[in-house]
Amino acid sequence: MTAVPALNTGDMVDPLEAVNYLDARYAQAKPEGVIEGAVKFFGDRFALVSSFGAESAVLLHMASTVSKDIPVLFLDTGKLFGETKRYRDQLAADFGLTDVRSISPDQNDLQAEDPKGNLWVRDTNRCCYIRKVAPMARVLEGFDAWASGRKRYQGGVRSLLPHFEASDGRVKVNPLAFWTKDDVADYKAKHQLPDHPLVAEGFASIGCMPCTDRVAAGEDERAGRWRGQTKTECGIHLSLAENRRILSK
Ligand code: SF4
Repeated sequence: MTAVPALNTGDMVDPLEAVNYLDARYAQAKPEGVIEGAVKFFGDRFALVSSFGAESAVLLHMASTVSKDIPVLFLDTGKLFGETKRYRDQLAADFGLTDVRSISPDQNDLQAEDPKGNLWVRDTNRCCYIRKVAPMARVLEGFDAWASGRKRYQGGVRSLLPHFEASDGRVKVNPLAFWTKDDVADYKAKHQLPDHPLVAEGFASIGCMPCTDRVAAGEDERAGRWRGQTKTECGIHLSLAENRRILSK
């Protein structure tokens, strides 16, 4: 077993050492075990990031069974469906989550780069950067590790996800990395989790209103995101260096 990485008050945990330590104990664990391991290791320096989208209820419910006090970070881009915000409030109440934080873009960034709110028409990467990536980077300054609900079956850059990865000086935790679509459906059914209201209207993956479309039967579940563009990720799951590279193109 790897030694416990030094946790000095006020110092960041070394993310590579932390990943090695966590891998040695929880690489094969069930999702609940991965969350428990992260909470045990990082304490209040661990957060969960949720879009409160089509499949978000599973990870949020699971986290609530470990601790209802895990901070849940929700990026309120200013372009979300009203249904998503109401779903956020419903799930937070249903699961008893005590610390759901809505993170907004910086008003100066919006004034300088998107005063009319239509930057997404011209440059979705830049729009995602000021509405998601930059606010996320700011709020993560208070944390050493964060979890999200990405899964390997979602394909693309997600197809090789491990439970723990080091990125930008932090540890990213992917409790559902190895779950299949059936695992997700079974968990939802078992715990009678409510669907996002837009799922019934044909939305399989739900982000901002201007960049989310319905998907047809048989289409990839993320096919409705940034439809018609090569873009497949908003950027919060990429490193800041990768984001800068994309913006410089
Ligand atoms: S998903 Fe669309 S509207 Fe939302 S931040 Fe990205 S480009 Fe802007």
